[in-house]
Amino acid sequence: MKNIKDYNLDELKEEMLLIGEKGYRAEQIFKWIYVENVTDFNEMTNLSLELREKLKENYTLDIYKIIRKQESSDGTKKYLFDILDGNAIETVLMQYKHGYSICVSSQVGCKMGCKFCASTGIAFIRSLTSGEIAEQILAVQRDIGIKISNVVFMGIGEPLDNFNNVIKAIKIINNPKGLNIGARHISISTSGLVPKIYEIADMDLQCTLSISLHATTNEKRSKMMPINNKYNIEELMKACKYYIEKTNKRISFEYALAKDNNDNLEDAKALVKLLKGMLCHVNLIPINKIENGEFDTSTNENVMKFRDYLNDCGIVATIRRELGDDIEAACGQLRRKEGGNI
Ligand code: SAH
Repeated sequence: MKNIKDYNLDELKEEMLLIGEKGYRAEQIFKWIYVENVTDFNEMTNLSLELREKLKENYTLDIYKIIRKQESSDGTKKYLFDILDGNAIETVLMQYKHGYSICVSSQVGCKMGCKFCASTGIAFIRSLTSGEIAEQILAVQRDIGIKISNVVFMGIGEPLDNFNNVIKAIKIINNPKGLNIGARHISISTSGLVPKIYEIADMDLQCTLSISLHATTNEKRSKMMPINNKYNIEELMKACKYYIEKTNKRISFEYALAKDNNDNLEDAKALVKLLKGMLCHVNLIPINKIENGEFDTSTNENVMKFRDYLNDCGIVATIRRELGDDIEAACGQLRRKEGGNI
């Protein structure tokens, strides 16, 4: 049986017609799922008992179980969800002045192999469906009774390696009849899947695109991110320029600073050269050290010097406030299982 959350509104209308119901039932069901956030078909009280039975016979309404929930001293919460097939994923909720932001996973494991990221140290199992992506938001909203206002695809997985499901999830998250979160409040982060960047550019999605850049030479970037062997910096920058030209939207470049690796003035100079004149913003992240990781975090002094140099050269750079690092919920610390074991 298929999870009812894996249908968008149009598909659900078609499903209703197929089981002999009126199309408008789909809107009612959509509202029960995404607005009322019910956990059982029985709670859909404006549907006839007969229809509720039909729904139970034909679909599942998948609800994640919380295996573990950790809370950081800064209020960040990390959830380990049982996604009902024996696998588990992590989702992080961050509280900012302007509201709640959720960091969702897009895959169980990751294929990218970035050397500094904990999500990589474990095998790739599978991509999540659109319903499984949306359920992370619903589950957290149910758990603490809040409305989430920002979604970032920066959890486990490479979102552009699960392109169709991620785009479908974004449309449901964005739909006023779905989770109703504005596209400008949704960000996708990619390690640089060049052909997909072109596709996104042509889609008029209105979401924010973040690029995990982390280095300015192919030699260095390939050592940190194997994907660079497939799509090198020149190809990546060409795709980014196309994206900016096509969408007129700013790209956010992520740059994780690792001590004595990519954090000195020469690196900052090379970064300025690479990004000069582009409509962009740089997000500096002092790298979070992972277990057995070869990279150490940059000193505060170097991080600030790096930021100041970029800003002095006219490139807007900010240092990302690291939330949740005491519970391993910060960038690059997510895994798909308790303790990180397979
Ligand atoms: N696969 C996607 C999204 C997940 S990672 C991507 O690569 O963009 C989200 C961000 O955290 C990326 O910019 C990633 O490079 C960064 N990151 C990963 N490990 C990190 C670490 N140990 N310290 C700091 N940032 C890290």
